Amino acid sequence: MANKTLKGKIGVTTENIFPVIKQFLYSDHEIFLRELVANAVDATQKMKAVALRGDYKSELGELKVQVELDEKKKTLKIIDNGIGMTEEEVDKYINQIAFSSAGEFLEKYKDQLSSIIGHFGLGFYSAFMVAKKVTIDTLSWKDGAKAVKWTCDGSPEYSMGEGKKEDRGTVITLHLDDDSLEYADKNKISQLLGKYCKFMPVPVVF
Ligand code: ADP
Repeated sequence: MANKTLKGKIGVTTENIFPVIKQFLYSDHEIFLRELVANAVDATQKMKAVALRGDYKSELGELKVQVELDEKKKTLKIIDNGIGMTEEEVDKYINQIAFSSAGEFLEKYKDQLSSIIGHFGLGFYSAFMVAKKVTIDTLSWKDGAKAVKWTCDGSPEYSMGEGKKEDRGTVITLHLDDDSLEYADKNKISQLLGKYCKFMPVPVVF
C-alpha cells in the first residue's frame, strides 16, 4: 500500500479507517466510553501537575469530568476541565499520532484488536465505533491560548479551526450513529460508567 501523506488528510495507509475500526471492534463497542473518560481524567491529572509546579496562575477550580447525554439529539458529551489542547497539540496528538498509529495498529493486530485497543493511542478513535461525527472543542490552560474546534465525520478528512470555548478544558461531542442508538439511553450510560469509570481520581459526574 502506498504510504503518502496529504495536508489536511489523515496520514493513514487505510483509505477509510473508521468502518474497519467498527468492524473489528464490533463486540467491544462500549469501551469507547472508558477510553474517552480515561483521556478526560488524564487531562485533569496533567492540569493538577501543571498547577503543582506553580506554572498556572489562574483559578484551578474543582477538577472533574462530566458526561452529558441528550437523548433527543442523540449526542453524548464528555467534558473535562483539564489541560485542554492548543491547535498544535490537536494536530500532533489527534491528527498525526493517533491516526498514524491507528494505521500501524490495524496492520499489525487485525486479529486481536479488541484486547489491545488503547495501547497504540487509538483510544480517542474508539469514539468512531459509535459516532458518525465527533467534535472536539478545547481551550488549553496556556497563557494566550486560542480555542480550537475539530470535527471529523468518520471519513479520513477532518476540519480544524478557531473554536468558541471560553473556559479551560475539552468537550468531546459524539453524534451517535444510527446503529449505536443504544447509547442514547441514560440507563445504558449509567451502567457503563458504573462498570468502567469507578474509582477515578476525580469525580465523574453524569
Ligand atoms: P492515548 O490516550 O493512548 O495517548 P488517545 O488516542 O486516547 O491516545 O489520545 C491521544 C492524545 O490526545 C492523548 O495522549 C492526549 O495528549 C490528547 N487528548 C485526548 N483527549 C484529551 C482531552 N480530553 N484533553 C486533553 N488532551 C487529550
